[in-house]
Amino acid sequence: MERYPKRDDLQELSGYHSPQVSVEVRLNTNESPISPPREFVEAVASAVRDVQWNRYPDRTATALREDIAALHGVSADNVFVANGSNEVLQSLLLAYSGAGRKVVTFEPTYQLHSHIARIAGATVVSGRRNPDFTLDAAEVARICRQHSPSVTFLCSPNNPTGLAESQESIHAAVDETPGIVLVDEAYAQFSPHTALGLVREDARVAVSRTYSKTWSMAAARLGYLIAPKWMVADLEVVALPYRVDALKQAAGRAALRFVSHMEHAVRDVVAQRERLVAAMTKMPLTVWPSQANFILFRPNIPTANPASAASGSSTSGSSTSGGGAGRALWQALLDQSVLVRDCSSWDGLTDCLRVTVGTPAENDRFLAALQTALLARD
Ligand code: PMP
Repeated sequence: MERYPKRDDLQELSGYHSPQVSVEVRLNTNESPISPPREFVEAVASAVRDVQWNRYPDRTATALREDIAALHGVSADNVFVANGSNEVLQSLLLAYSGAGRKVVTFEPTYQLHSHIARIAGATVVSGRRNPDFTLDAAEVARICRQHSPSVTFLCSPNNPTGLAESQESIHAAVDETPGIVLVDEAYAQFSPHTALGLVREDARVAVSRTYSKTWSMAAARLGYLIAPKWMVADLEVVALPYRVDALKQAAGRAALRFVSHMEHAVRDVVAQRERLVAAMTKMPLTVWPSQANFILFRPNIPTANPASAASGSSTSGSSTSGGGAGRALWQALLDQSVLVRDCSSWDGLTDCLRVTVGTPAENDRFLAALQTALLARD
């Protein structure tokens, strides 16, 4: 039997690649290193007993949406929930992009934005960041004016580069695009500002959030969108019915009872992040500043004639180049059972790796492995 070919426009596309290998220290997917509180686990355990397993869940997930709405001071009709924010983004792209429509991203950014847009059949147009990975409002305005995209993605703080987008860039997108502006705030709790204030009935702005990071609930797969009511109604047309199961609805509600635990965890992660940055900037690395729970970095290549090509806070006396130094460092860390994200083949990220902030013990292991790998290289 001959295989049946997939859609022509998917031939070049490969799936999502983030190796899941068995290691002692896993710092590659930006989860929270901190477990949710014991009371949360108990609340979920008791919810398991209360689930009516023979029945479909509440299709509108009303109680969960009301709780999320209360957290953000909006109405439940402004909240769309799905299986992780990836599914939120997929629903948004199914509703507003598709064949003959354009989607704008500013690379390098979260890879799934362009990936899901292509699967939805849209044409992806990429604007560029500055060499230090900041984004100019003028570039945002230029791309939006030139291409009139149906959906414009901004990621704030931006994964994998680390900084929140400037409010000027977000306003530029809002002012210049005729379409939807989606601000992906997966790492919002680390950010100095949010675009939630821009969500209004008479604007085309939506903000996506996730339970996977700061809420310590990556295992549950739950995300949501705060958007104008008409947009939530549009998304409900394309999304699958009963997609958010009863247990997930209960878990999502239970988590919101532990806001102060989550905020505490954020402070701990930020303290650990600063410790990592301080240690890493003493090594022959280029380290980009972060307002999230991960750090982008790149090994410097020692040269006889120092000429800094670095755009982050680099140690001096080195330049950076391709040649697989990033990939080699990733492998050297893996050989010591420390897994970080290899971004070295991504557009604009030659030799770059991304480490998620872990527990103090995991961070110790990472720093020691990094030191060993860099020494062995010299
Ligand atoms: N947006 C960004 C910027 C992310 O980094 C991630 C996860 N890596 C997601 C969305 C997806 O998160 P989830 O589907 O787990 O909610």
